[in-house]
Amino acid sequence: MSRVDLIVRNGSIVDTDGGPHRADLGITEGRIVERAPRLARISAARTIDADGKLVLPGIVDPHVHLSKAFGCAHGQRLLAAAGVTTAVDFAGPVHDVFETVATQGAGLLIGSLEAVAPGRAEQNLAATVEGSLAGGALGVKVLGGHFPLHPESISTLADIVAARKDFLLAVHAGSTRTPGDFEGMQEAITLLGDAPAYLAHLNSYVRGEVHDDAEEASRAIESLRLHPSLTTECYLSTLNGCPAEVVDGALASAATARHLRRLGYADDSGGLEAAIGDGQGGVVSPSGELTYREHGIEVWRAAATRTMVCLPVNHLGATLALLNARRDGAPLVAHLCSDGGGIPRNVTLPMGLTLVDWQVMTMQELLQRAIVAPARMLGLDRGRLQPGDAADLVVLGSHRLPEVTIAGGAIVFRHGEVIGHGGRVLVTSDEGHASATERGLTALRTRMYLPSFDS
Ligand SMILES: [Zn+2]
Repeated sequence: MSRVDLIVRNGSIVDTDGGPHRADLGITEGRIVERAPRLARISAARTIDADGKLVLPGIVDPHVHLSKAFGCAHGQRLLAAAGVTTAVDFAGPVHDVFETVATQGAGLLIGSLEAVAPGRAEQNLAATVEGSLAGGALGVKVLGGHFPLHPESISTLADIVAARKDFLLAVHAGSTRTPGDFEGMQEAITLLGDAPAYLAHLNSYVRGEVHDDAEEASRAIESLRLHPSLTTECYLSTLNGCPAEVVDGALASAATARHLRRLGYADDSGGLEAAIGDGQGGVVSPSGELTYREHGIEVWRAAATRTMVCLPVNHLGATLALLNARRDGAPLVAHLCSDGGGIPRNVTLPMGLTLVDWQVMTMQELLQRAIVAPARMLGLDRGRLQPGDAADLVVLGSHRLPEVTIAGGAIVFRHGEVIGHGGRVLVTSDEGHASATERGLTALRTRMYLPSFDS
């Protein structure tokens, strides 16, 4: 009689090989080692009863926020509970993200980008990129509408990534010339040109701020069809997430100010307080809950305003138009993300499955966009649950919400409780590897890849 670490019994498995197929999975040392309708004559240290429950590969979320700096240190716990097994922080700071993996990790595989802050980092962008990768980043992020750079800086970054093709240049639209809206998106696409780059959360630029939202969506699709080198993503929550920080009475983020104006509030500290008080703005608490009204204001003050606020500004109808669009026969929106993590909107699974019900996409298309394609960008192979594959998976319970999440072969979430801790980090350089191991972290060396790196 042989022995494995863990058996997942009698789940209804759907992976890139199809399904649902009833089977048992045997897991040892982070890998699936057995798959059969019934694993007899094998014993296991632990068994998960998944009888008749949907079993999917773990979600690979290409865009989340996990750092203390953004008030998101609790994010890895929320991800584990949402069925996510691998994720990329889309702002850093990398040292902060790595520290939260060590101190507040949930047993996941985590990579991070480093944001390019306006000012000093803009003066020598080649050195900024180099320094970020050496610090363990997978690439750099332009924070656009929140903390705008000069348009020339975005063009320079596009030139650097076009020459190197070994890091992710992710851009949130908006610059010192445009806000992070539809207009900012058109500018970002023009500035990036034919560079192999990544345009963050396309859905957030079609909120009807410049034209009506349907027109913005169709024009966004048109522009991106003309720029096949750009990879893009959508998230599926109606809530946004933006910095709630106030400095000397003014809002630190230009995007937060813009959204408040749009919702009819003053674009200052008082306006934000009124929006929270009215129940429009939800403040993210240290444990990752959205808090509103008096309680929300208390949480915001207790954090000395350094937390995030969620406002209901996304138009799901326009997002669906983007998700339906194709470019050269493939989905125009290659990835589904949450832009969540510490921002409590990790809804890729429940919303993605709803979109499958609505026939907006097939189950296989959901697996491609929420797992396979983002994993490939990270140089990882995910989405199949066969012997030899990574043991990253999620068992769905009632209302198709995660009941058990298994990451790297370990149970990290079970029946409402996050039990994973620590985690592994993804890096692309020797220096990044050294900087992670110095912190006592297990680092996995990888190579970033976008389809447009080939051309
Ligand atoms: Zn983000």
